[in-house]
Parts: sequence; C-alpha cells; structure tokens
Amino acid sequence: MNKTDEYESWILEAKENFVEFIPNSSALLQKITVIVCDETNIETEAKELCVNLNVDYFNDEENRKLASGFAIHGKQVYGIIMNEWFNDIDDLFYMTLWHEIAHCYSKEHDNVSCDLEEFLYSSSEKWTKEYSDLLYGYGFWKEFEAESIAYYLLQKTNRYDDFVDEDGSCFESMMHNCIEHIDTCNQDDNLLYHYFGFVFAEIRKRVGGVLSNSTVESKMFNSILRESDADSLGEEVKDSLIDMFELLSSQMSKSHFWVTDKEFVAKLGDKRIKLMNAIDNQKKFAVK
Ligand SMILES: [Zn+2]
Repeated sequence: MNKTDEYESWILEAKENFVEFIPNSSALLQKITVIVCDETNIETEAKELCVNLNVDYFNDEENRKLASGFAIHGKQVYGIIMNEWFNDIDDLFYMTLWHEIAHCYSKEHDNVSCDLEEFLYSSSEKWTKEYSDLLYGYGFWKEFEAESIAYYLLQKTNRYDDFVDEDGSCFESMMHNCIEHIDTCNQDDNLLYHYFGFVFAEIRKRVGGVLSNSTVESKMFNSILRESDADSLGEEVKDSLIDMFELLSSQMSKSHFWVTDKEFVAKLGDKRIKLMNAIDNQKKFAVK
C-alpha cells in the first residue's frame, strides 16, 4: 500500500472508531474534511481549506508548521490538517487525529465550548475574577478534553500500550518536564494538559477501564507523585497539583466525561491560576 492509500485507510478507521465509542458523533464526522500534507504545503492547504469552509483566513505559518495537526472551524463544518512529518506511524496518527476531531466534537457536544468562546471573545467585563477564571479554565479544559478523548479511544481500540511505548513517555520525565517547562512569566503551561491527560489514561488503565472511586484514584495519584520523585517539588506545588487532580477526577469519573458546565470550568481556572502561582513562588524561592 502506498503512503497516501495508507493515510486514507487510517482516516477511515479513526472516524469509524470515533463514531463507535463517542455518542452522537456520526453526523459530525461527515462534516469533517481531513487533509494530510508535508510541512511545506501546510499554509497553502490551510488557506484553501478556509476558502472552502467559508472561514476568514489569516497567515499563521510559523505555528501551523510546528503543530502535529490542527482543526479549522466553520459554521458547523470542520477541516483538519495533519502534518505528515509528526504522524507517519499509525498510533501517532490516530492520537493526533482523534484529538483534533474531539475539538470539533466539543463545539457541539461538551455543553460549554460554544457559549464560552462567544463569551470570552465578546465580553466587555475583561479581567474580573469571573472572566479570568473562565479564560484560564477554558484554555486548559479544551485541550485536556481533546487529549482525554484521544487517550480514551486509544484504550478502547487497544492501541494505548503501543502508543505509550512509541511515545517513550514515562511519568518521571513527563512530570519533571511539565513542571520545568511551565513559564510563569509568559503564562505558558502547555505541557500541563498533556500531563494530566496522560495521568488519567494511566489511572484508568490501572483501575481496569472505569474511573469512579475518587478515594482510590486520589491514592493512585499520590503514588504516581511518589514514583515521579515529587519530593523535589515544594509542598505548595504538590498540594496544588493534588487539588487540580481532585477537581478533574470529579469530571473524569462521569461516563461522558466530555460533557461539563461553566461552573466546573471556572473552578478549573481558579485551580490552574493557583498552581501557576505556587510554581512561581517555588522558582523565586529557589533563586534566593
Ligand atoms: Zn488541541
């Protein structure tokens, strides 16, 4: 099979799996165009896709080249562009594609994405506590949600163990990378959602598929922190990580964990800000 045919078969199967395990997604999947291309063509393809979806185009070549995939949203029509360079192995391809499909799905089915985006882009009451909690909460939520759906599907289709091997991920390095790379000055904590997405996938595996007992799960997270040599973290950072885990755990124990509400997103934003502050304090303390 040549590579183009192989991509076509992966796209077909990824879409079928999504429909099989995520409810009410079949009509949506028919509205998603998927394009696979190498990085030299990404911007041209993005431009063309915007025209086809009737979406305003703006040049974002630098960022788009660095992404393994991204979705472009029109009015209930969607396009996904996959960067070949990052996705030439099937499990990586599935993980990226499911993450992007999940972004499209959330617009219509997570109960908050549509409303929150409208509110966040149009609100005149910027920088009230409510606004910043929602902004920070939603920034984390939309990525965490997409990542968690993708991990969930990897597990449902028995691809998870191979994926984790290929990815070379392990907790120790992942946690330390995540904390070290958090840049509190630029409010950049992009690895945080990767980390928590992976934590919940691992715990789901360890408890045999279903998250439902918050005491058991909290104990597991504590042992994960110990396995990750979390002693190098200060108490305030560790407590904030546990707090954030516990809140996410209440959401992840729902069978449709992708459906949420504004109140949860605001709480999540509050916890995320607290964690950033704790990391900031730890860094300041370490410098002295
Ligand atoms: Zn994403």
